[in-house]
Amino acid sequence: MTSVNELIRAAAARETSTRPPGGAQKPGAPAHRRPIALRATGLTSCGTGLAEDPWTIDREEGYGPGASVEDPIPGDAPRQGPLPAEYTEASEEELHARIVAAKEALGDRVRILGHFYQRDEIVQHADFVGDSFMLAQAAKSHPEAEAFVFCGVHFMAETADILSGPDQAVILPNLAAGCSMADMATIEQVEDCWRELVFEFGVEPDAQGRQPVIPVTYMNSSAAIKAFCGRNGGIVCTSSNARTVLEWAFARGQRVVFFPDQHLGRNTAKAMGITEDEMPLWRPHLPLGGNTTQALRESKVILWNGFCSVHKRFTVDQIERARAEFPGVRVIVHPECPAAVVEAADGAGSTEYIRKEIEAAAPGSVIAVGTEINLVNRLQEQHPELTVFCLDPVVCPCSTMYRIHPAYLAWTLESLLAGEIPNRIVVADDVAGDSRVALERMLAARP
Ligand code: SF4
Repeated sequence: MTSVNELIRAAAARETSTRPPGGAQKPGAPAHRRPIALRATGLTSCGTGLAEDPWTIDREEGYGPGASVEDPIPGDAPRQGPLPAEYTEASEEELHARIVAAKEALGDRVRILGHFYQRDEIVQHADFVGDSFMLAQAAKSHPEAEAFVFCGVHFMAETADILSGPDQAVILPNLAAGCSMADMATIEQVEDCWRELVFEFGVEPDAQGRQPVIPVTYMNSSAAIKAFCGRNGGIVCTSSNARTVLEWAFARGQRVVFFPDQHLGRNTAKAMGITEDEMPLWRPHLPLGGNTTQALRESKVILWNGFCSVHKRFTVDQIERARAEFPGVRVIVHPECPAAVVEAADGAGSTEYIRKEIEAAAPGSVIAVGTEINLVNRLQEQHPELTVFCLDPVVCPCSTMYRIHPAYLAWTLESLLAGEIPNRIVVADDVAGDSRVALERMLAARP
């Protein structure tokens, strides 16, 4: 299969050459294995910088090339220090061999957790592959491990640290791997918002014993925000259980404030019959989030103005083009996509939903998927009997997931072998305790 990195490198090369469209395809690869982009618009990526190695961009302002490149990065976001030249100058083959050797020497003492959106060169070394919560649960259920190397982004490593034992280290191979969506809600902004909501609504329950507002945060948020929800009668959700969690919240509150992904909040609430008018958007830099008192009083779900830059790229136009090019195509998308895209699709759901839909598809089916391209390409690889392709006509992976390069994994594992623990992610005890409250409420919530 043509990996995403090969597609990126080919796209960058094409920018400076006269190579004909499709020239990067591996000889012999079947045409249906190419992303739709290669047929519809030619081979393109969202930035030639994607072809560069991450350490060249780690110390620059912003998230770097990829889907989050336009998003502002918080000034206090962690930065990765320089990587020794023996790693940055190593060939792909050498890095691979060093990772394999270090992993074997470390044995069960160290487990590698790989997110679905990681590049194949990383996923092939992972002991567990999954979404952020599945991987945090994997950390919790392996008390024998001394350390977890979390090939994902910062908030995921925090959740793994919260759920794992106190003596187990959780390591993020590259500290520059944040998440632009999680960074769109800082704890200071959330506390400011809460103060304004408490001023508007007070804290007294109504005649049915329901709180004025229940805070709900998506897993993709900082530990500080999860802890805030735990302290204030709130809860965490994933993209798999968002509806169950909202139902839990409405049994206890008159309305919800939903952090940080407006699209998951809106799509879930719409499916429950809540109207757009009842879902004001909270813009953190404006008084009352840019809303009137009346709009807030009539609200059911107050949506934080955050989004995932990967899933925001999907459009109704892409769906129409896929349907025109592949009559009978089934379109499935992630609920972090905008509401119009979810409505135009045949189905929407979490990564697990998308995986199950593809597993259940009849041989010969054509499926267009609206989620991160590394995962979509891997699903195609695992299901050669199907045609699976990414709706996005541009090869544009998550900027921050992309920061976990094999060189960082090799450096992390060899540091562990040498007795050092690099890039350990530690959540303070009080924050971890309150976060656990919100996570446990989620695990106990029932449909
Ligand atoms: S895919 Fe979106 S939500 Fe996931 S880490 Fe990247 S920016 Fe964050």
